[in-house]
Amino acid sequence: MGKRGLLERLNNGEVVVGDGGFVFALERRGYVKAGPWTPEAVIETPDAVRQLHREFLRAGSNVMQTFTFYASEDKLENRGNLAAKKHGVGAINRAACKLAREVADEGDALVAGGVCQTPAYLSGKGKEAVQAQLRKQLEVFVSENVDFLIAEYYEHIEEMEWAIETLKESGKPICANMCIGPEGDMHGISAGECAVRMAKAGADVVGVNCHFGPFVSLKCMEIMKNSLNEAGLKVHLMCQPLGYCTPDAKKQGFIDLKEFPFALEPRVCTRWDMHRYAREAYKLGVRFIGGCCGFESYHIRAVCEELHEERGFLPEGSQKHDLWGRGLLQHTKPWVRARARKEYWQNIKPASGRPYCAAMSEPDQWGVTAGNELLQQKKEATTDEELKKLIR
Ligand SMILES: [Zn+2]
Repeated sequence: MGKRGLLERLNNGEVVVGDGGFVFALERRGYVKAGPWTPEAVIETPDAVRQLHREFLRAGSNVMQTFTFYASEDKLENRGNLAAKKHGVGAINRAACKLAREVADEGDALVAGGVCQTPAYLSGKGKEAVQAQLRKQLEVFVSENVDFLIAEYYEHIEEMEWAIETLKESGKPICANMCIGPEGDMHGISAGECAVRMAKAGADVVGVNCHFGPFVSLKCMEIMKNSLNEAGLKVHLMCQPLGYCTPDAKKQGFIDLKEFPFALEPRVCTRWDMHRYAREAYKLGVRFIGGCCGFESYHIRAVCEELHEERGFLPEGSQKHDLWGRGLLQHTKPWVRARARKEYWQNIKPASGRPYCAAMSEPDQWGVTAGNELLQQKKEATTDEELKKLIR
C-alpha cells in the first residue's frame, strides 16, 4: 500500500524497469515445458517462480509481472496439455498473482497482470469467444487487485484491440505490446498503424515485446513513435525485447530461426549489449524498459546500472557488481585487472567459440502462423495431418 502507481511514475518522467522472460528462464531450469509453454509452475513449484521474481527485484525491476503467459483456459487445455488443465485457469492465475504480490511487497515494485494471444483467435472463433477467454483471467486480476495490466505477445492487431477493450472494463492502467518487428503484424498491418490502433483502443502505454532482440525492437519502437506523433496521440512507450541478438530474423521473429527454441545460446546478449539497449531506448523516449525471453536478471541489472544517474540509485544486486567491471581490480592476475574499465567492455566483440557456425542463420520464413493459414484456407482443419498438408 502507498506505492506510487505506474502512470504516476511515467507521467513524472521516471524510468520504470520491467522484468525478464519467465517461460524461457524456467524452462532452462526445468520447471516449464517447451511446446505448450504454460505456467502451471506457479502451483507445482512456487519456490522456483518466487526465486525468479526475487532475482529480478534485486536486479532493479519495478514491475513483477504475474507468471500468467498463455494462462487462458483455451491455451491451458490446448492439444492435450493435461498438466495445465488439471489445475485450471482460475487457480493458476490466482497463484501467479499471489507470488508476484508477495515479492513486489518486498521492495518498490508494482504487480502487473499479464494476458496474451489466445488459440480462440487463431482458430477463428471470433471476438466474443476471445473476450470470454480473457475475462476469466481478468476476473482473477481484479479480485487479486493487481496494480495494472499488460496485454502482450499479440501477433495480430485485431486481437490486441479486442484485448484492450476487455481489459478496460477493469478501469486499471493498460500496457499493450505487439510481438512484432519493423515489418509489422501478421496481417500486413504496419508497426506504425499497430501503435496508433493500440493507442486509439485505449492503451496507456504501447510498444513491443518478445520475438526480436533489443536493437531490432528499438527500430520498431522508432517507427511506432513516429506514427504516434504524426497522429497526435500521446501515450507512453515501452519495450520488452528478447535477450538474444536477432539481426537475421524476418517478419515472425525468432520463432522462425532454426535455433528456436533449443539452440539459441550463442545469441545471448551480454550485459554490455544491455547497457547500449538501455541508453538507446532512453534516448528514443522509451520509459518502460524491460525484457522478455532470454532476458535474465543480470540483463535487467545492466539496464539499471546504465540508467542509474537518471533513476538516482543503483539496484541492490549492484552491491556484487561494480560499474563497468571495476570489481576486477581485485583480481589476482594483472592482465585481468587491466580489463576493469568501461572502454574495454564497451568495445568487446565476443567470440562464439564455434568456428564452424555462421554468424547469421537462414530463417524458415513461413510468413504466416499456422492459425492464419487455417483462417484463410480451411477453418476446420484440426488434426496434425491436416495441418501438415496446409503448411508444407
Ligand atoms: Zn518472450
